[in-house]
Amino acid sequence: MRRNRNAKIVATLGPSSSDKDTIRRLFAAGVDVFRLNFSHGDEAAHRASFAILRELEREAGRPIGILADLQGPKLRVGTFAAGSVMLDESQPFRLELDTAPGDARRVGLPHPEIFAALAPGAELLLDDGKLRLIVERCGADFADTRVVAGGKLSDRKGVNVPGVLLPISALTAKDRRDLALALDLGADWIALSFVQRPEDVVEARKLIGERAAIVAKLEKPSAVEQLEAIAECADAVMVARGDLGVELPAERVPGIQKRILRTCRRLGRPVIVATQMLESMVTSPVPTRAEASDVATAIYDGADAVMLSAESAAGRYPVEAVDMMSRLITEVEGDPQYLQLMNASRPSAPAGAGAADAVCCAVRHAVALMHASAIVCYTSSGHTSLRVARERPEAPVLSLTPHLRVARRMALAWGIHSVHIEDVADVDQMTAKACAVACQEGFAQGGQTLVVIAGVPFGTPGTTNLMRIATV
Ligand code: PGA
Ligand code: MN
Repeated sequence: MRRNRNAKIVATLGPSSSDKDTIRRLFAAGVDVFRLNFSHGDEAAHRASFAILRELEREAGRPIGILADLQGPKLRVGTFAAGSVMLDESQPFRLELDTAPGDARRVGLPHPEIFAALAPGAELLLDDGKLRLIVERCGADFADTRVVAGGKLSDRKGVNVPGVLLPISALTAKDRRDLALALDLGADWIALSFVQRPEDVVEARKLIGERAAIVAKLEKPSAVEQLEAIAECADAVMVARGDLGVELPAERVPGIQKRILRTCRRLGRPVIVATQMLESMVTSPVPTRAEASDVATAIYDGADAVMLSAESAAGRYPVEAVDMMSRLITEVEGDPQYLQLMNASRPSAPAGAGAADAVCCAVRHAVALMHASAIVCYTSSGHTSLRVARERPEAPVLSLTPHLRVARRMALAWGIHSVHIEDVADVDQMTAKACAVACQEGFAQGGQTLVVIAGVPFGTPGTTNLMRIATV
């Protein structure tokens, strides 16, 4: 089964999409990577989703990517005696370590690290930024604030501290438990929420090792400031616009999104644009024109993948939302302006380019000159396939790998159609197999041209040094 587009679709599973039939329909409509949100759902639910996805993968005969998204240090207020309170503008309000049920004068905030990092003048955002407080005085276990924007505040609502670099790890105790479960189940990608610095990714990598690849979610101003260093440490990046638009003014998000996309393309890191892309489809069978434009813009800007959250997890039209996204991507990719934009924005080869860079640059030219129907890339780690995809060539990339884990991971990356194969032993076998797989997967017919790349000696990672033009 072949998809006729290059950019990928990530869809979040949830109450609207937890049964096998819906998941199967989501896959048929175009989902390449399924996201399990560990902010919600218990172990049994995640286990059930994994079982369904791996069964579907066997039935479909196509590698399916699974992304486990860890909640991260999402800070929350405690509870109120009455469940909620109304806070009025300019009234005083105290936050304190003491978690006794709150009222209109005070509430618990069970995070000593926040109190340690606060200073007078710091701003606190509550409930996705709907309420705002300014710190006037603070100590090790309290902060006296003034309400700047009031409203209703209820139990366990989220707290954001935008301007402050918090001395906390990107992995909470809950994240560590969830991570162990996700790795045990065999997640292909682990997404880290509220990453603040490159060290957060390094810390997670120590726990994860080679078992899964890492997506760094950019949703903190401090992460945006260190964008390049974080993207270098991670395997992929997510523009997490939901929290980013709380931590920063909404008007800054579009420009930052473009900057993240450009940086990731230069570094060859797959990048996902996420949150509220087709938000109105939670309740409506059609998106707004602005939402359609948002998805299209992400594709024109070179995103590897676009993501659905509530639309597929909790909405009324999960399958329609995927179908809409798929059609939007196909339309953009068929527009001659898209090719022009990809060509105009192609980053130059990195300093110290080696044989693999030279081969990948040559591949793009060969494809354009010969109107090749596909690129066939033999890869052990997936690195060469990503390197080719970064060139945004005019033909799709068939990524052949003996490692199922790598095949599944590549489902997230632009233009890559993964096939899990046994290793080949020599150049003749490499060419014959490339032709056979390309035909079988619907990427070539007799007489068409393929551009095949590999590394000799075969099966040794990091050796890409060979390009072969083959006629099917
Ligand atoms: P979330 O992350 O859905 O886990 O909050 C995405 C975002 O913040 O946009
Ligand atoms: Mn978030």
